[in-house]
Amino acid sequence: MSELRKASLHITGIVQGVGFRPFVYSLAARYHLNGWVRNTSAGVDIEVDGIEETLDEFITDLRTELPPLSRVDTFDIIFSAPGRFTEFEIINSKAVAGAFQPISPDVCICPDCLHELLDPGNRRYHYPFINCTNCGPRFTIITDIPYDRPNTTMARFKMCPDCTAEYRNPYDRRFHAQPVACPVCGPKVWLEVAGRQRAEGEDAIRQAKQLLADGKIIAIKGLGGFHLACDATNPRAVDELRRRKLRVDKPFALMMPDLAIVKQNCVVTSLEYGLLESRQRPIVLLERKLDCAIVEGIAPGQHRLGVMLPYTPLHYLLFSADGSPFTALVMTSGNLSEEPIATENDEARERLSGLADAFLMHDRDIHIRCDDSVVQQFENKIYYLRRSRGYAPDSVQLPFEVPPVLATGPELKNTFCLTRGRYAFPSQHIGDMENYETLRSFEEGIQHFERLFRIQPEAIGYDLHPNYLSTRYAMDRAKHENLPAFGVQHHHAHIAACMADNGLNGDHAIIGVAFDGTGYGDDGAIWGGEILVADYAAYQRAFHLAYFPLPGGDAAIKRPARTALALLWTLGLEWEDLLPPCRALGDEERISLRTQIESGLNTVQTSSLGRLFDATAALVGIRQLVNYEAQAAIEFESVLDESESRGYHFEIQNGIMDPKQVITSLLIDIHSGVSVPILSARFHNGVAEMVREACGQVKQETGLNEIVLSGGVWQNMALLKRTVHGLRKDGFTVLVHNQVPTNDGGLSLGQAMITANRFNGGVK
Ligand code: ZN
Ligand code: ZN
Ligand code: FE
Repeated sequence: MSELRKASLHITGIVQGVGFRPFVYSLAARYHLNGWVRNTSAGVDIEVDGIEETLDEFITDLRTELPPLSRVDTFDIIFSAPGRFTEFEIINSKAVAGAFQPISPDVCICPDCLHELLDPGNRRYHYPFINCTNCGPRFTIITDIPYDRPNTTMARFKMCPDCTAEYRNPYDRRFHAQPVACPVCGPKVWLEVAGRQRAEGEDAIRQAKQLLADGKIIAIKGLGGFHLACDATNPRAVDELRRRKLRVDKPFALMMPDLAIVKQNCVVTSLEYGLLESRQRPIVLLERKLDCAIVEGIAPGQHRLGVMLPYTPLHYLLFSADGSPFTALVMTSGNLSEEPIATENDEARERLSGLADAFLMHDRDIHIRCDDSVVQQFENKIYYLRRSRGYAPDSVQLPFEVPPVLATGPELKNTFCLTRGRYAFPSQHIGDMENYETLRSFEEGIQHFERLFRIQPEAIGYDLHPNYLSTRYAMDRAKHENLPAFGVQHHHAHIAACMADNGLNGDHAIIGVAFDGTGYGDDGAIWGGEILVADYAAYQRAFHLAYFPLPGGDAAIKRPARTALALLWTLGLEWEDLLPPCRALGDEERISLRTQIESGLNTVQTSSLGRLFDATAALVGIRQLVNYEAQAAIEFESVLDESESRGYHFEIQNGIMDPKQVITSLLIDIHSGVSVPILSARFHNGVAEMVREACGQVKQETGLNEIVLSGGVWQNMALLKRTVHGLRKDGFTVLVHNQVPTNDGGLSLGQAMITANRFNGGVK
């Protein structure tokens, strides 16, 4: 018989708020082991006495039977003299100075809780805040670590005896479920109309459903903020929502009650099923079916719909059969135009009163704002458009250790990123940093992440664009705290982001194709059609799209017609009266535009591929004015005829990718009446071929064979597919994003990697 020994285990990763201690507790009971388990701000500590064989089995089970929401990053064991424990206990949490603990993102309601929610015999029947160790709010209610109830916005709800018993019983699935609550002791839901409470509890939900069925717009408080909801099959309600929200035709997200209804309305692959049903419950972009019941006004000019399944108990109650079940509800973020999503009740009352006919509110506070995530599928992998609720604040594991740095991200679709050891923490979606509210949300977010993860940045990275609010924040802070600050070129950051996303350690350079809307170049021009040879330290610009003028700078983005004419002017092509952009602009505007371009007044040069897409879409008559970013390009892509295989030819030499021949051929095709879907295909094919040819030349000169694709243009699936296919045929290894978005939402990760590299003096 072997001797009694003590095993001391220290485990880090996502091990709190996921049922880890009860799991350890029941495992210890299985092997009749005595000792203890506790949370610390660094992870979970365990001590158990046992003989070698039993301890081995206990540890093996511990490693292999982990609770579903947990993720183990490190697992350390020390054996020593027995502790002579007399029972197995869960002991008080311990704070460890400076240590940190990954925090679980918010998790959708689990099957067990859903079952109870709909069981009339259960004491939480129809209770909209039901949750357990496997589900419910996390990130959005945590105010500090360790993750215990006093450090959440549930602190002010005193548990009733029933909830306390569940909370304390290690065999209960609500054991130490911090947000545990019931109708007796927990948060309450109510309906407010014109500032007055009209109903409470189930009655409030019933009345909200009735209002929705009557075509009204309701502000509904969710996990990370308020949604504005209306019936997605009611065209008048949808139009009214657009009018109030000042949102002309940017698509609205939808919530559908179940997969069967999603399937009736959209084409869904098996991976997409998985994404829809995953515990993150993102908005998934799906191909709409021809007989789709959703009104056209949800996503005008697009062939895809953004769909999600319900994720909170309240959502399920809105869809449950009594009353009026909906095929789909619009669930768009509760804000006016580009402001951040409203989270606090008073704030919602103030900011949304002109938008919503009623408020379905509750008194569980949202500590940190978190918008819905948006994803799509590319080659059997997730491809993010927005990485936020459900994913944030999960870390990206880095290929090597880095110093603590802060990267402040771009202007549009901002996220920031903090690093620590081998972790990068990209923030949730912050939004477009164009107003005071978003800036505040950004600053609060940074503070919160620094506190949660105990990070004190030693260097700051920022975008080269001098006027970005995120850049100014970085400058100010660097000055105040006397920190080194590093300006990072936008497209270099994109490429570094995609390298880190794919775990590249940067020991050799790669070819980076950064195709994008807008990014400040190191020559002061607006870049966006760049082929770089890069690593985390530096980049060389191997190729770029030939410059053309952007009259009015960034403001021109809203007017593709002007971009189109500026492009024609540069290429020495005529402004023919019959061309759609010419028709869209009056004689006067054309004359002043020409003067502006010729004089160069308030005009910047650009190599942006996003702008080339805009200009081309305008020339073929798709759109002369856009209401949201990349609208012209998105609509141009969505009409593409898949059967067309020809492509226009870009001239590629001396580091320049020249679109002159492309536009000349396009004009000839337009004149001979070639259809827009064919024009679209030929343009997309041409761009993909251009990348292939340019990368081929880079390979000849450098021998490099690895390519990363990053930048907002790679949200264009038609282009992405063609490009990846072409490059692979030539034997290239092609890497795309799959942990952070390819658009500017992923930029801060790359900024952080480059900043860390420079701060270290280029030495790893
Ligand atoms: Zn649950
Ligand atoms: Zn209770
Ligand atoms: Fe960008």
